[in-house]
Amino acid sequence: MLESIKNDQYCISHAPLTDRCGPHSIKLFKRGNSHYEKVSYPRHCGIYHEIESSRAVMHFNLNHQLIRLTGKQRDWPHPQEWLKRTIGNDWIYYSTGGYTGVFETTGEFYLPNLPYSTNNHLGGKPLSQEPIRSLIDNWPEEIKNISGHCNGSSERVAQTLEKIMACTPAVLAEKGNTLHQVIDGPVTVLPPDTRHVDYQVIPLNVSVGCLYKCGFCRVKNNRGFAELSVDQIDYQLVRIRELLAADLINFNSIFLGQHDALNCDPRLICNAIERAHHKLGLSGSYIDGSNTFLFGSVGSLLSADTELFDDLDLLPGRIFINIGLESADQSTLDILEKPLLAADVTAAFSKIQSINKRCSSVEVTANFVTDPELPDNHYRTMLELIRDQVGSPRDKGCIYLSQLRFDDPSRARLFDFYKLKRLSRLPLFMYTIQRL
Ligand code: SF4
Repeated sequence: MLESIKNDQYCISHAPLTDRCGPHSIKLFKRGNSHYEKVSYPRHCGIYHEIESSRAVMHFNLNHQLIRLTGKQRDWPHPQEWLKRTIGNDWIYYSTGGYTGVFETTGEFYLPNLPYSTNNHLGGKPLSQEPIRSLIDNWPEEIKNISGHCNGSSERVAQTLEKIMACTPAVLAEKGNTLHQVIDGPVTVLPPDTRHVDYQVIPLNVSVGCLYKCGFCRVKNNRGFAELSVDQIDYQLVRIRELLAADLINFNSIFLGQHDALNCDPRLICNAIERAHHKLGLSGSYIDGSNTFLFGSVGSLLSADTELFDDLDLLPGRIFINIGLESADQSTLDILEKPLLAADVTAAFSKIQSINKRCSSVEVTANFVTDPELPDNHYRTMLELIRDQVGSPRDKGCIYLSQLRFDDPSRARLFDFYKLKRLSRLPLFMYTIQRL
């Protein structure tokens, strides 16, 4: 109830306003899409301020912080591509990938080009190229220039531009650092299912570390698994609420970190989801629905009681749990230095299928590794699960393939991926590893 009042009051007291600063167009409190949709053209979610000059379209969140840029120069690579700045202060370039195979490969119409080494499926480094680089560097000048034309504009426009200019790149970097301090370091990897909300999640740690410390893993930390206390979770919620402030209304999803939240006490998991919904007002977001994303492991999944999934099914919003299976072949698990038995991976896969059938708002997805050097038996045993065990095609319970080599994108590898995709009876996509 409180949450829907928040949304209603917000929308009434922040009515959209359109104005001009000389030749430049200003739209305050612009209403974007209110639900995430997979479309092949720019369709941005949330309420934001839009400022458009002859050189760029710039979007600012409700804290006056830059969130998106689109160049209007002739040499901008594609009119339907844009730059996004995350709450962790990373720039991501959204590329159409020439509309060839991006959706089939990732499940999304846009390919996120990231500023760090990751499993980049199609290659390319647009962030270091012109005119993209210049726009990232020069937007503050552009805003300054626009504000110089604002004599005669409304008071609200002048005040908004002042606040935007106060959010310099240094201030934005500081906000990203503060978020990382609150959650005890950057999120090294988001679950692949966060693609459903364009990776726009609020990170909230309920535990740290993981169980296995696998040799192959590039995202782990040195910590052994440990659950956080309710007080530690509440502390994060209070600080995140302060940090996101007016823009909180544009978030409807949380990521329960770090690498194995499913290994926590079931009461802690459910309690954290309920507290986050209440304290962050997720159900009252401008964006429809709410979502919780978390990782689990083979061990935490196999030891979890069915009751936990039934309880999760009753909580608000949809819940996505991503499990790192990696391989059902013992020699591959040994190569990966993943201390698991293949029989346990197979049992975890079966349990995933039964949870996905039983629960309507819980979806469990799984990851397998892929690399041309892995034994044939890895692919044979994977197909025994994702094709033979599944029976008929299903649209729930995605399988994500995670490349072992980050810096070697290859279209030849994608060819192997398509072969597996054709045979799988579950949706199969490549895992795009994103940090936050
Ligand atoms: S794959 Fe998962 S369990 Fe293994 S080291 Fe990485 S985070 Fe930990």
